[in-house]
Amino acid sequence: MSNTTRGILERLQNGNVLGAEGYVFELERRGYIKAGPYVPEVVLDFPDAVKELHREFLRAGCEVMVALTYYAHREKLKDVGRENDLERMNRQAVRLANEVAREGDALVAGNICNTWAYDPNNPQESGKIVRAMYEEQLAWAVEEGIDFVIAETNDYLGESLIALEVIKKLGLPAMVTLASVQAEKTRDGYDYVEACKILADHGADIVGLNCDRGPATMLPLIEKIRSTVSCYVAAQPVPYRTTQQALTFESLALSNGERAFPLALEPFLLNRFEMADFARQAKAIGVNYIGICCGGAPHYVRAMAEAIGRSVPASKYSPAMELHPMLGVQVEEKDKVFLTDWKS
Ligand SMILES: [Zn+2]
Repeated sequence: MSNTTRGILERLQNGNVLGAEGYVFELERRGYIKAGPYVPEVVLDFPDAVKELHREFLRAGCEVMVALTYYAHREKLKDVGRENDLERMNRQAVRLANEVAREGDALVAGNICNTWAYDPNNPQESGKIVRAMYEEQLAWAVEEGIDFVIAETNDYLGESLIALEVIKKLGLPAMVTLASVQAEKTRDGYDYVEACKILADHGADIVGLNCDRGPATMLPLIEKIRSTVSCYVAAQPVPYRTTQQALTFESLALSNGERAFPLALEPFLLNRFEMADFARQAKAIGVNYIGICCGGAPHYVRAMAEAIGRSVPASKYSPAMELHPMLGVQVEEKDKVFLTDWKS
């Protein structure tokens, strides 16, 4: 556990908490995770790569190091023949998050997610399998030291309620953020706003949405959630230009009609200023935990931190465009001569 005296709830009480995720996407881009299965083998194979990304997010102002246990569960590890590495991978992920959290003043979050094992037509039996997976992952995480748990990208309210129960049994603060792949409802038929209300009523400390949607299509839903629940609210969108026609990054199409997700999304990337705008808007509507998901990278996080009034370690190298040899001179009347000289 990180050496902090203030836990997640105390920090949220005092103001916004800035988060950052998208580890799997970014480490895939860097060549350490295989797209397709998306299992975080990097935790065991290249631990320094994981630590470096944690550190970059930390320097950019992220206050929560999320242990890279996303998809480090039994169902997914079977797919890549590493089921025997399950415990080692989970423990190591939490250790790496702790090591970097201690370099700053960050918290460590355990992380569980959708399992692909939950069957809404057989919630009792499939729920037992899901529960066992969450229990074993979080038991290891607790032993290695975590401050709270983020259960995320659940498509089913039923599955997220199991996650919540397991977290609360451990006596830890619970942040539960749903996937919002469909237009209005979870895959088991609950309106996203209603689903968040049910989670809050069952004791979730923080509810909201992460992944799938860019700011443009996530914020309207988040606003409704904010006005419906009284607990803390989290929003961690993807930095992509989703629209009313394509609500999620999974539905974005390239000009040739092909699906852009997940490997050809670059044409839809937002820039850092747009993510900074998202952070400002989220803060203005009362979102407590503001972050970013798949596609996220440190430059976005720094811009978001600065947008909500913070100066962070990486701010030392924030843009100073007035010093740019070409662009900077355009703002100074006296330098216009210089620009002319340069062109001639
Ligand atoms: Zn994501």
